[in-house]
Amino acid sequence: MTFLDYAPAPESTALLNLQPEYGLFIAGEFSPAGGESFTTISPATEKPIARIAHADAGDVDRAVAAARKAYDKTWSRLSGRDRGKYLFRIARLVQERARELAVAESLDNGKPIKESRDVDIPLVAAWFFYYAGWADKLDHAGLGANPRALGVAAQVIPWNFPLLMLAWKIAPALAAGNTVVLKPAETTPLTALLFAEIVQQADLPAGVVNIVTGAGETGRALVNHPDVNKVAFTGSTAVGREIARSTAGSGKKVTLELGGKAANIVFDDAPIDQAIEGIVNGIFFNQGHVCCAGSRLLVQESIHDDVVARLKVRLETLRVGDPLDKNTDVGAINSAEQLARIRELSDIGEAEGAERWSPACSLPDQGFWFAPTIFTNVSTSHRIAREEIFGPVLSVLSFRTPAEAVAKANNTPYGLSAGIWSDKGSRILAVADKLRAGVIWANTFNRFDPASPFGGYKESGYGREGGRHGLAAYLRGAK
Ligand code: NAD
Repeated sequence: MTFLDYAPAPESTALLNLQPEYGLFIAGEFSPAGGESFTTISPATEKPIARIAHADAGDVDRAVAAARKAYDKTWSRLSGRDRGKYLFRIARLVQERARELAVAESLDNGKPIKESRDVDIPLVAAWFFYYAGWADKLDHAGLGANPRALGVAAQVIPWNFPLLMLAWKIAPALAAGNTVVLKPAETTPLTALLFAEIVQQADLPAGVVNIVTGAGETGRALVNHPDVNKVAFTGSTAVGREIARSTAGSGKKVTLELGGKAANIVFDDAPIDQAIEGIVNGIFFNQGHVCCAGSRLLVQESIHDDVVARLKVRLETLRVGDPLDKNTDVGAINSAEQLARIRELSDIGEAEGAERWSPACSLPDQGFWFAPTIFTNVSTSHRIAREEIFGPVLSVLSFRTPAEAVAKANNTPYGLSAGIWSDKGSRILAVADKLRAGVIWANTFNRFDPASPFGGYKESGYGREGGRHGLAAYLRGAK
């Protein structure tokens, strides 16, 4: 089959006004850090973007002190209505600077511009608008009489949705009346630093939002700081476990959003062409760097061969390459470390006997790339069916009955999300009822809305983000 070629349509970086070097954002100002600075690079080209400050324990202490002062002196004394005004202002500034933020996100993270432009940044604005609306209605949210903020929140986020994860953390925290110190991931600090500029533009009282950049030790110093009241973490299960251990008995309220190994279940009565799109969106969206990715495809045996054949045809049309090209469907892998992990697990899949397939596609010489990959003949004991690969790799398994589909879907230490494809509403509801997953999509996948709570069971963590439930995590006594 031949396809028409697309002419390159690169998004311009001319509208970016980046600094060569960024300090820490503490008490409303950028300041130098105690640690040795590091370089953030574009994973698509390996070219440097900017030098980034590395916060040491003393810097974390300064940031927490600034957040405490802002909480005591200003933020906790403002009415919900006034807090809401600041959040609305931030939401509008995000919209005004949307194009610039999308370009910066794709540059630093490697995700396709059409995703940062059409998904990440619009959702960031939506999150701030949504929680702005809650700020003056906390008394009516069913979260107890006169709900009160916790104080200072320590927030640590990963690299897969840098600005969106920041919004998931900061918007509900501020709406509920807390102040925050946030640490972005070391490979994707750029948009958090542009967000710091937005905080300045919005004239937020100094110290309400503080951004400390750095790696694991900075995150550890932050979550273990004695003057922090709340810890919100998104990232790997290993680090989540460490945080659960180190904060146990400290009195800090903790929410953990960790990994996943979601089952995307396709029944023989499903609308197959729609399901193919949903499967592709489920695992190849954001290069599969998605905690709720549909990384295990469970297909009813009678349609297995048909679905796999159609999936392969569809994958041949995916365009892999420059994240800033508006035609790109699959961008760069975020880091050399993540690429090594994807390669290792994929090689293990092959060695364990699964059948590996990728479409013919030429990958750029520079940067970190992995072709979209499908494994068939996968059994539930294979490591690629059990471990989170966090890349564009799909493991296909089959089932005969709904009961077998449920048993296989639940056969994982995780429990974050799942998808069900069927023409019958009754079947969807019956199966959804038996799945141990925090989020279940029916005849769609990877849909996010600020009004909808998100979170997991088992090793996927605890607590919910989004919706009214997301406020409870930042209020005293509320569940
Ligand atoms: P990670 O958990 O190491 O890092 C996430 C964040 O935590 C980063 O900001 C990091 O600097 C910080 N951090 C690291 N060690 C810390 C510590 N001891 N205390 C406090 N903060 C600490 O995740 P990663 O290395 O970026 O990715 C590894 C794996 O995690 C991936 O392969 C994937 O399976 C999983 N992951 C899950 C999500 C998710 O959304 N659930 C996101 C990213 C990665």
